[in-house]
This record gives sequence, structure tokens and C-alpha cells, in this order.
Amino acid sequence: ISEKQSTGGSRILVFVRLRPTAKREKEGGSRSCVRIVNRREVYLTEFATENDYLRLKRLRGRHFTFDASFPDLTTQQEVYSTTTAELVEAVLQGRNGSVFCYGATGAGKTYTMLGTVENPGVMVLAIKDLFNQIRQRSCDSNHEVHLSYLEVYNETVRDLLSPGRPLVLREDKQGIVAHGLTQYRAYSTDEVMDLLLRGNQNRTTEPTHVNETSSRSHAILQEVSRFFMVEYRVKDASNNVVNRVGKLSLIDLAGSERALATDQRTLRSLEGANINRSLLALSSCINALVEGKKHVPYRNSKLTQLLKDSLGGACNTAYDANEEILQVPESETDQAKLLLELQKEN
Ligand code: ADP
Ligand code: MG
Repeated sequence: ISEKQSTGGSRILVFVRLRPTAKREKEGGSRSCVRIVNRREVYLTEFATENDYLRLKRLRGRHFTFDASFPDLTTQQEVYSTTTAELVEAVLQGRNGSVFCYGATGAGKTYTMLGTVENPGVMVLAIKDLFNQIRQRSCDSNHEVHLSYLEVYNETVRDLLSPGRPLVLREDKQGIVAHGLTQYRAYSTDEVMDLLLRGNQNRTTEPTHVNETSSRSHAILQEVSRFFMVEYRVKDASNNVVNRVGKLSLIDLAGSERALATDQRTLRSLEGANINRSLLALSSCINALVEGKKHVPYRNSKLTQLLKDSLGGACNTAYDANEEILQVPESETDQAKLLLELQKEN
């Protein structure tokens, strides 16, 4: 437990998970360029692709330290236990938390967050755990679990459980909320995987050169655990209801590849720039939080507005940098410059 956490500040943990080399990659002569040195340290032996000299210069032959590293055979349960179990506990205490994966398309983000029916990922395991924890608690309190599932695509927010017009973000007493978003009351774990799979069918997916089936949207699962605790108060000898709300945001981010790398037509590179804007906004918020800055630029993208109350303040963030190491420019101005540079090169 860090000092920051004991004073109620936010705590950010960063993990790296390696995925197994796919058969297709092996056949194509690819080999892993990441070596796990110990439980916390990885070594990047080589990181070179043609015309990717920016990253090449920064990343070749370097050590990186994480809060934990997961070798390619790590189970979903192990990833969940190390990265997210603590956050589910915190949510039950009325705190907020968020977990997201960062990495290029194909890095294993969706596998980690959603998983498969046989190997469910963090989203499903978190809810399973949440229900287990609730069941173990005293039976005279009233717990509710509400789920919502939305996407941020091209800086537009959509409800995945009830597709329709884009949602407008509004600020109210609870913070920034997507107006009209479906709040699905869940009673058991069983319905959750179904719900997610149904929601994913509504995800905006368009073929790109990188991966024909990749989804280019940010999907966010916002799970609101509202539980009412019956408190006995000596003063007025009456039962008061305490409404404790904790929120866990589990995010399967869009691929981090740049517009530069994907050789797209105008529309698609605009989309790429927007997606990168969200990712860059996210990274600059995280940077600001890590550096303890007073101003955190949440307003710069829809994604960061939605995550405002789950990144800073009394919350925890677990961050799974999937195979790729996030390099964060200093300021928004630098990000804008970087984007312009990348577009020029393109
Ligand atoms: P992303 O969402 O980052 O684009 P995916 O999660 O779709 O990537 O993963 C790409 C492919 O690799 C998928 O076929 C997925 O099943 C597989 N994969 C990813 N991570 C793992 C893992 N840890 N173990 C086994 N297969 C994995
Ligand atoms: Mg994916």
C-alpha cells in the first residue's frame, strides 16, 4: 500500500502480458522480441519494422519495469487476480476503479478483457467475483449490480445494449454521465457473458489493412455496484439507508497503431487521428496523475471524460500495457505536434 493510497489519492499499476506467438506468425518466421527477465522486468530485444524508426530509436534493447509481468502461458484467472481482484474489493467499499488494455491490434486486448466462453477474461471474472463477494456479505443489506456497456467510436459515444442515436455526455451531481445509457440490473454472473457478446455484435467494426476483423472502437463496460447498507444509529434510533456507490470501468481499448502505419484513405486516417486522440488524451491524463499534477486534462476526449471519476480521485487504476510500451509526450501541444508530424510523414 503506497502512501498515496492511504491518503485517498489514486494509484496506478501497470502490467505487461505477453501473448503466445500465433501459428501463423511462427510460420511467417516471426519470433518474440520480448523477454521476461523476472516478475517485474521485461527486456525488449528488438523492435523494428520498416518506416517505424521513431519507435526503433526509442525502444531497441531496453529494459522496462512493471508492477508485474505475465509470461505467455499465464491464465486468465491469474491475470485477473493480480490486476483486478483488488479493485473489485475497493468497489465494494464505495471506491471507483478502472482497468484497461493498451496495445496494437492483435496484441491480445480483447482476449484479456473479454476472453472466450471457455476462457473468460477480466470483465467476466470481475463480475463473477463481485457476485461472490456480495453473497458472502451480510444478508440484510441490499446490493444491486447495474451494468452498462458502451462504445466510444470516432469521438462518438454509443450504447451497446440498446443501439440507437449517439449519447450525449452531461455533467451532473454524479459526475460526467452518458445521458440515457442503459443501466442493466444484473442478478447473476451467468447473464453477463451473454450480455457482453450481444453488446459486441453492436460494436462498430470495419476492415482495416492491419486486421480484417479488428474492432476500431473503444468499448467500455461500466459496472456500477450500488449496495445499500442498513445502519443502526443511536442518535435517532431509526434505520438510515446509506447509499454507497462504487464504479469499476473495464475497457477494451481500440488498437494503438497509428494512422501512419495503416495506409488508409482520408476518412480512415481521420478516424485514426481521432482514435489516437482518445488514446493520447488517456495517456496524458495518466501522466498528469502519476506526476501528481493539479490539472488533469480529462476534457480532451470522450474517453477521458467518461473515465474522469474512475481515473483520478479516490480510485484505483490497473493498466495492462499489452506488448507495447506507451510513450507519452509531455503536453497536449506536443501531442498535437506529434500527430501532425505523423500525418505529414504519411
Ligand atoms: P486485440 O483485441 O488486441 O486486437 P485479440 O485479443 O483479438 O487482440 O488477440 C488476437 C489473437 O490472439 C486472437 O485470436 C486471440 O484469441 C489470441 N490471443 C490473444 N491473447 C492470447 C493469450 N493470452 N492466449 C491465447 N491466445 C491469445
Ligand atoms: Mg480487440
